Amino acid sequence: MNKRNYMKELEAVTEEFKAEGKTPRLLLQVCCAPCSSHCLEYLREHFLVTVFYYNPNISEQAEFEKRKEEELRLIREYNRQVREQDFSGMHSTPSAHLIEVMDCPYDNEKYEEAVRGLEECPEGGDRCGVCFRLRLRETARAAAEGGFDYFTTTLTISPLKNADRLNAIGEEAAAEFGTAFLPSDFKKRDGYKRSIELSSQFGLYRQNYCGCKYSRRAAKQEQQ
Ligand code: SF4
Repeated sequence: MNKRNYMKELEAVTEEFKAEGKTPRLLLQVCCAPCSSHCLEYLREHFLVTVFYYNPNISEQAEFEKRKEEELRLIREYNRQVREQDFSGMHSTPSAHLIEVMDCPYDNEKYEEAVRGLEECPEGGDRCGVCFRLRLRETARAAAEGGFDYFTTTLTISPLKNADRLNAIGEEAAAEFGTAFLPSDFKKRDGYKRSIELSSQFGLYRQNYCGCKYSRRAAKQEQQ
């Protein structure tokens, strides 16, 4: 079976809308500011993006809020660029759009309930599949309710996360809620490299673990 090229599929969507002279609405599940930096720089050229910071996996509310604040700071900066048409140091054009935000509550209990029994799985294992599904199902639900044309996630920018698995889960969630998933593999075409450059350019807080308390524990153990 041929391997899918998710970025080509994404571009086919943008080309189709461009030919029709339309800008689709996209609900983007965002995990943190560093991961979203390149995704937003790229996506705002083609979509009216609304950021959905839905991350019940993050252990400790203080960390959840810290990542969220950093995300909001990045969005404010990106929107300032659009209002002032100031794109110095950016891979952006004057047709970039403003980014909106849809707020989400912090609900770590929901995540812990979902991953019960999978606490000892290594990163990349079954616990992560459950975690992806939880976040993408909620994003699909919100996209359907909000009448968005598409939803997707920044998670595919991580070299530690399997794009085939994320895209499959996104498509399942789209079918369940009657909405459309935008395929992606944002790490491709130097996307991950660009996220590192942008993180440094904007001095973004970059955490050293994925999010849940299990990944934090593993990161601590690695440091010892
Ligand atoms: S390691 Fe990351 S993706 Fe995996 S379960 Fe924890 S927070 Fe979710």
